[in-house]
Amino acid sequence: MNITEIKVNEYERIVKAELVSGVQAIIAIHNTRLGPALGGCRFYNYASIDDALTDALRLSEGMTYKSAMAGLPLGGGKSVICGDPEKVKSTELLLKFADFVDSQGGRYITAKDVGISVEDLDVMAQRTAHVRGTSAKDSSGDPSPMTAFGVYQGMKASAQFLWKDSSLKGKRVVIQGLGHVGQGLVKHLAEEGATILACEIHEQSAKAMAQKYDVEIIGLNDWHKTKADIFAPCAMGAILDATTLPALNEMGIQIIAGGANNQLKDLEKDGEKARQLGLIYAPDYIINAGGIINIAGEVLNENQDWAYNKTKQIYTTTLTILERAQAENLPTSLIALKMARERVGLA
Ligand code: NAD
Repeated sequence: MNITEIKVNEYERIVKAELVSGVQAIIAIHNTRLGPALGGCRFYNYASIDDALTDALRLSEGMTYKSAMAGLPLGGGKSVICGDPEKVKSTELLLKFADFVDSQGGRYITAKDVGISVEDLDVMAQRTAHVRGTSAKDSSGDPSPMTAFGVYQGMKASAQFLWKDSSLKGKRVVIQGLGHVGQGLVKHLAEEGATILACEIHEQSAKAMAQKYDVEIIGLNDWHKTKADIFAPCAMGAILDATTLPALNEMGIQIIAGGANNQLKDLEKDGEKARQLGLIYAPDYIINAGGIINIAGEVLNENQDWAYNKTKQIYTTTLTILERAQAENLPTSLIALKMARERVGLA
């Protein structure tokens, strides 16, 4: 396999290879100061290989910060396969990708992301040891319940910071997206006695959750038009911006704490907007780190208790960030970034 290196400032190693005719892949290793770079493989029909590279760079850097702030001895990396998985995915391609991962000698460890299934990881595991989250008996399994637990911890820490009481009993919480993470969050919130409102594209999932728990289903576009105390984005990214943040504020929302990745459309501007409005934004990659902690347990040969306890620490980390943001009069998103970069010696 012909592997070429791409030099990018601040990134340790970026490599590109053609897996099968016309399908290229990139492994981006952002930083390994704290340990090997762990991050999933995204198989996506990017418009161009340049778009794929941009995504790999952004995602791998994010993984460095997420793992560092979760207190893991792991670095940040991510890989992308540029092509339509529906059309070009094959066993041959997955094996070639595994060889590509293996060529990095363990400096990069791959896992699941968009377009990659557990079965695909099983195929990769035939050729490389540097893959996690397979269906093997000793695998860490679905990370979503741990992600949901971490989001719940982050939400409770935000409540403690704002209301000097971490209890969510009686609080009105709007959840966008009742998928893997959203459903897990509902369970924790229901147990604590919160009032849950949610929107979900798939009517069946929404109905099923409403039958199982006391969840009021709201319209898809009503998540920022519904009176509540807390908003938990658990669907897509880039939903917090100059329009939706003031709208949430008007509806009485005081805390934003959810599992979705990259919630702020513009990290700097929208982070500052949230601060100006007095909205407590619990940074997404801090509170949704339960999933990576779960996979890290497998990498580090730790058990579920270890992952649970590490995820529980998201409470303290969130509180520290919120307090520091208040003391320094800066957006929580910026403080989280500063702290993460300090931890990996990139300050
Ligand atoms: P998922 O696909 O299982 O669930 C997402 C749900 O959101 C789906 O049910 C989908 O129908 C719904 N949805 C999509 N757009 C919507 C919209 N506009 N309005 C209402 N509902 C909408 O995904 P997931 O695993 O639950 O992940 C949710 C988010 O959390 C994603 O942003 C993901 O990147 C992030 N995340 C997940 C994990 C994890 O462990 N699963 C870890 C970290 C971050």
